[in-house]
Amino acid sequence: MFKKILVANRGEIALRVQRACRELGIKAVMVYSEADRDAKYVKLADEAVCIGPAPSGQSYLNMPAIISAAEVTDAEAIHPGYGFLSENADFAERVEKSGFQFIGPTPESIRIMGDKVSAKQAMIKAGVPCVPGSDGELPDDPALIRRIAKAIGYPVIIKAAGGGGGRGMRVVHTEAALVNAVQMTKAEAGAAFGNPAVYMEKYLQNPRHIEIQVMADKFKNAVYLGERDCSMQRRHQKVIEEAPAPGIPRRLIEKIGDRCVAACKKIGYRGAGTFEFLYENGEFYFIEMNTRVQVEHPVTEWITGVDIVGTQIMVAAGEKLPFTQRQINAQMRGHAIECRINAEDAYKFTPSPGRVTTWHMPGGPGVRVDTHVYANYFVPPNYDSMIGKLIVYGDTREQAIARMRTALMETAVEGISTNIPLHSELMVDAKFNAGGTNIHYLEEWLAARK
Ligand code: ADP
Repeated sequence: MFKKILVANRGEIALRVQRACRELGIKAVMVYSEADRDAKYVKLADEAVCIGPAPSGQSYLNMPAIISAAEVTDAEAIHPGYGFLSENADFAERVEKSGFQFIGPTPESIRIMGDKVSAKQAMIKAGVPCVPGSDGELPDDPALIRRIAKAIGYPVIIKAAGGGGGRGMRVVHTEAALVNAVQMTKAEAGAAFGNPAVYMEKYLQNPRHIEIQVMADKFKNAVYLGERDCSMQRRHQKVIEEAPAPGIPRRLIEKIGDRCVAACKKIGYRGAGTFEFLYENGEFYFIEMNTRVQVEHPVTEWITGVDIVGTQIMVAAGEKLPFTQRQINAQMRGHAIECRINAEDAYKFTPSPGRVTTWHMPGGPGVRVDTHVYANYFVPPNYDSMIGKLIVYGDTREQAIARMRTALMETAVEGISTNIPLHSELMVDAKFNAGGTNIHYLEEWLAARK
């Protein structure tokens, strides 16, 4: 096992990895930007290294600074968290070339999955069903583009091969709008992701977002840890996640889970990963794979009893997966829900950074709070607005929802605005309570609320 790991991230996930290290008796080196120098997990760290000024380009995305921090502290491995460099194949490669273990899959796996066109091709080869679409990147010839769209059938969605974070996507309803939309998405993709390649998919009208969590070791053992329903989204970004997904027959989950496990074995995948699907009319359609730990991992940890971050570290150190599929299936129980707490106006969604004057978090049975925030913490304006996660567990979905309502009621945050009022309203919403709402539900609900 490692003696020392460097955590190349910030905020709640940096704290989550630090906690996993402590539990495993591993020293954790925290890196921080000047904007994060007062964070408690930095102050309480075994060791901490400043890697640059507030803008992430000069700190959390600064590969040489992070690798030198690992060198000067004698860390053996680097945990990238999520976001920032976590899905950057060049970073993983440089980490390994510098003699450190990257806590994640191989650079090749990251590279294949990081390009959504090559990811889909790999999945088709591995027998994972995909959203019908263009075979690979779209050509430049307008006539060819029109022919592809016609064959798929309108509406279609144009997506950037290198896209992420819900950006670089455009829905097209008519042939008249098609070529212009492709050109615009290409230009945006080039500017935002440094890769102008785009592809086309059938735009599914009423899908749910269902994803399968996988975990694999270096010996080609792989399991899936059930599914998550992340359909409650705004601007293609997740707001509430839960596990299991309400109303989907177990045999369908088992079938798609087995496919994901087979794909992991086929591509030599190692570490934690997520296969994201759209689910409509009883069918799963692969959209992308995330080759890292996800924000919503705690809901899976709760229903499976698996420590996903701890297991990531163990398999990176060369240990075998400590559980089999059969054990996971046997120990799965209950229901978990996560509400992402964002520093933003609850209904206008404008960011709300600044000084937190009151910070009172809930507790009691079945309540978990993952956050690095505390009273008098300053939320820097430089990073993502997500400042924590409220996760609840119940024997049933009803109990989990009831606990979430109470937890939200107990929560008190002052000094900044948060989306807690939005979560409180959604927890009493009849459709959410019934379960199984689709990816458009939240936006429609917000539009109707106005
Ligand atoms: P990102 O990497 O930016 O998160 P994804 O490919 O995972 O992009 O898609 C994010 C979200 O966009 C999905 O959860 C879904 O809501 C929507 N989406 C993506 N592809 C389609 C599609 N073919 N049809 C309908 N909605 C889609």
